[in-house]
Amino acid sequence: MSDWVRERLHRDFAQALRVERMLYDSETAHQRLKVFENPTFGRVMTLDDVVQVTEADNFIYHEMLTHVPILAHGSARRVLIVGGGDGGMAREALRHAGIERVTMVEIDAGVVEFAKDYLPGISAGAFDDPRLELVIADGAEFMRRDGAAFDVIIVDSTDPVGPGEVLFTDSFYGHAKRRLAPDGILVTQNGVPFLQGAELTNTMRAFRSLFADAACYLATVPTYAGGPMAFGWGTDGPARETPLDVLRGRFEAAGIATDYYTPEVHQAAFALPGYVQKLLP
Ligand code: SAM
Repeated sequence: MSDWVRERLHRDFAQALRVERMLYDSETAHQRLKVFENPTFGRVMTLDDVVQVTEADNFIYHEMLTHVPILAHGSARRVLIVGGGDGGMAREALRHAGIERVTMVEIDAGVVEFAKDYLPGISAGAFDDPRLELVIADGAEFMRRDGAAFDVIIVDSTDPVGPGEVLFTDSFYGHAKRRLAPDGILVTQNGVPFLQGAELTNTMRAFRSLFADAACYLATVPTYAGGPMAFGWGTDGPARETPLDVLRGRFEAAGIATDYYTPEVHQAAFALPGYVQKLLP
């Protein structure tokens, strides 16, 4: 298995990706970072041997964590991304002309630097956009501070092990709510419910106690293996009820070409199979 990277994330299930060419393998200040080439997925970045992003399938994850809350909100101007070091989330958020500022709080400057050098296609110029403000800090610590309110907060974290663990706590979610503008929306990456059910249950329990509208939605990302992954959704506003024709109008007006997101997929993503519903408190 020397030319494969085996992901060590779950106790009973693992996936492996063939390494055609290792481009980088070293420790950053916070985690072990690898970038390698795989013929099917293009360049792949792993942190502590857990797949974070691939050139081929990142569009699904990034489109669904940006366009769903931004288009449901309808007039978002300020976006906060927590994590997101590869720049893919900033790329998609900045495609909306109405977004005036994207603040990205990433704990690991090493991830940003390597993404710029080794994965330029993922950020696609986002790091050079004057609307992007990059803050190198722990997202949990940033959230505790007072400061500007955000229309959309996107938690693009690693899994709840290592530095990402604090981004799954009740205290973090409470502070995130405090940093939302009225009718603002918080969305989170919540892992693959088939394998990481407790992660979703815990987040949803916290969201139910914080938000008038607490929900989750799904998308299937091939390299986040084990079935569809879940995204948490929390808001006190009515954005989830936005009618399909309104979403279609906003999407058309935004003039964004997507490969996964459509207004129909947006609405359907909130339909949950029984086994996921049973995980909700
Ligand atoms: N899409 C990936 C997934 O679901 O596996 C995660 C994307 S990756 C961009 C997540 C980023 O979160 C990494 O760059 C990591 O350094 C960052 N991160 C982890 N813990 C953090 C924290 N406490 N504050 C801010 N960023 C953090």
